[in-house]
Amino acid sequence: MIRYDLICAKGHEFDGWFSDSAAYDKQAKRGLISCTVCGVTKIEKQIMAPGIRAKSNRRADVQAMAAGPVDPRAAAMMQMMREYRKHVTENSENVGDKFADEARKIHFKEVKERPIYGEATADDAKALIEEGIEVHPIPRLPEDGN
Ligand SMILES: [Zn+2]
Repeated sequence: MIRYDLICAKGHEFDGWFSDSAAYDKQAKRGLISCTVCGVTKIEKQIMAPGIRAKSNRRADVQAMAAGPVDPRAAAMMQMMREYRKHVTENSENVGDKFADEARKIHFKEVKERPIYGEATADDAKALIEEGIEVHPIPRLPEDGN
């Protein structure tokens, strides 16, 4: 069994257990996975990026903003996250579900160091952090779902 950090089209974060990644793909394609908060079936795995220091409350902020009205402070932070996400996706290589392997290879200098992003299970992310490799979820923005 593997656990994925998932996120719905409206930005709610939750997790789900699947027998393997193929099982996740199949269920996601058939719309069998629904958001635990709002019930939409447009679900994605969260993408992760390594090595960028972020406030530990980033996830909470993202969640609060996705759910609540936008105040000016939140709007400024949203703009910051938008730029951060754009920066990551434009300047990093998308390694997809090989993220954990690639992050390790880079950390142990087995391959040339380069910025990457991709998909990781919650267990992968936890293991990487325990190995001293920092990973962070890339904030998801409301417009991504549209
Ligand atoms: Zn939702």
